[in-house]
Amino acid sequence: MYLPPVLSLLLCALFVALSSSIPTSESNADQQFLLNTNNPSSQSTETFLSRICGGLIEAIWPHYKTSSSKTSKVLPRPASKFQSRYDDDVVLRFKVKTEEEAKQFAEAVDTLFLDVWEASRDWADVRVSKKVLPSFLTLLPQSMQQSHTPIITQLSKAVLDTFPSIGNSQDERYRHASGMPHDLFFEDYQPLSVIYPWMRQLASMFPDRTQLFTIGTSYEGRDIPALRVGVEPRDDDPHEGGKRQTIVLMAGSHAREWISTSTATYLLRGLLHNFDPRRHDLIEKLLTHYDFVFIPVLNPDGYEYTWTTDRLWRKNRQDTSLPFCRGIDLDRSFPVGWDGDTQVDNPCSESYAGEHPLQAIEAQRLAEWTKNETEGGKTNFAAFVDLHSYSQEILYPYSYTCDKQPHNLEDLEEVAIGLAKAFRLTNGHYYDVDSACEGSVTLTTPGSTNDSQLVRTKLEESGGSALDYFYENMTVKYAFQVKLRDTGSYGFLLPKDSIVPTGIEAFNAFLALGKWMLGDRGIENYANLSSDEIWGQEEVIVGAVIDTNETDDADEDEDSFWWRRRRR
Ligand SMILES: [Zn+2]
Repeated sequence: MYLPPVLSLLLCALFVALSSSIPTSESNADQQFLLNTNNPSSQSTETFLSRICGGLIEAIWPHYKTSSSKTSKVLPRPASKFQSRYDDDVVLRFKVKTEEEAKQFAEAVDTLFLDVWEASRDWADVRVSKKVLPSFLTLLPQSMQQSHTPIITQLSKAVLDTFPSIGNSQDERYRHASGMPHDLFFEDYQPLSVIYPWMRQLASMFPDRTQLFTIGTSYEGRDIPALRVGVEPRDDDPHEGGKRQTIVLMAGSHAREWISTSTATYLLRGLLHNFDPRRHDLIEKLLTHYDFVFIPVLNPDGYEYTWTTDRLWRKNRQDTSLPFCRGIDLDRSFPVGWDGDTQVDNPCSESYAGEHPLQAIEAQRLAEWTKNETEGGKTNFAAFVDLHSYSQEILYPYSYTCDKQPHNLEDLEEVAIGLAKAFRLTNGHYYDVDSACEGSVTLTTPGSTNDSQLVRTKLEESGGSALDYFYENMTVKYAFQVKLRDTGSYGFLLPKDSIVPTGIEAFNAFLALGKWMLGDRGIENYANLSSDEIWGQEEVIVGAVIDTNETDDADEDEDSFWWRRRRR
């Protein structure tokens, strides 16, 4: 049924109005969760609602036109000055083999305020202007001056390619392969002006299983939206004990990691659209026994800034002691293992931790919200998953130190390995498993003073992470930071045709985590299941989504190919 855009908008506006805007006060988060599992009409009307609300997306952002539209696409493009910002920059990967190399690399990066994209055990990716590159190289030891490989040489183009554009959609193959219904929302990365109404729309479409609220307001006064998904447990459920078990799925701490936000929204949609109270399947069990709180954009100010001014912005947009250098790194702002140093740290740094823990407003809001949730024993955080990019890694606590082991290390490792397996079995992308502290340090050969010990030199500080905060202060048994695609070909500038396949593999991993947790709590008799039965079986998935990165490999030079291969 075709509905004129105006009528679609009116109908959707009605649903949106019913759901109200995102509440702006914390007290609204305490509203009674809407509970009604016996609502057959919600299923039968879902398709109808989905269809007419497609018109809302068109209305929100006029470049969208569905296949039924007569008008061709009119697409916004970033301003030319936005484009020229990156003309001179390249992203290079350096091999780091010794402690001395790591030390000098870190010092050179600090001296020139370069943007380190990712650092792992034996490599570091850095964005550098071609004009600055000669100076940078002279600050590095001789051994490193030739040991770099270009990752992105046309940065402006890579940036532009992440914005909505005219062209044939490549999503058709994903739609068929995934079995998931097509959703216009996931054809592109979305700005806040679309994400906020989209969340309100979801809340209005599924009032029996959602609650929209705000974590608080950002430094610039934007809502930090969250959607709680769940249904009331049956009266005879012996497992709840009066506390809601809550799983938190967070994304968008780092503004430029758009794939984290798109994946969070994909998981949210998947959980809602696949829930059927009559089927008594995994999702029905999960939503009965857990509340899921989705926070897709923890850093809305930074996210907005990536859409309007600097696509590669990472921090929030808070004022610092230096007027020309704004922003605090949210994932270095939490109190556990906070390692900022006001004598050394510079606000111009991409990973500036602020002057004290929780100085970053958005981190403070999240901490306040978690405190309110857990006060009085009304909520127990059962799991926390923080989505980031890139490097395809499942990381577990601790982030701030490698010298302290988590008390349930064995469980964390088992689940992390299972998650990596679920990711891999979906599309063939390998995810590494590691402690978060290992994910950002360089291991070197033993030093001269004590040959029996490995020497670790950090390329990036990693204290004050949300991962450690939830694990330690919120006593979350299962806390993970997941770094999504890719392994360096595009880095933060992952093409939009990876949105859906990344969402699918994350959704499979997410469901497997839920299955494991149901078994862990004794709700389901999963204790006797094999690893394959929980995380997936080693077999070729019929109709698996095409791995776009594989096709990209063919165009790369041999060195670059080798680097990415060994990371898989
Ligand atoms: Zn990140």
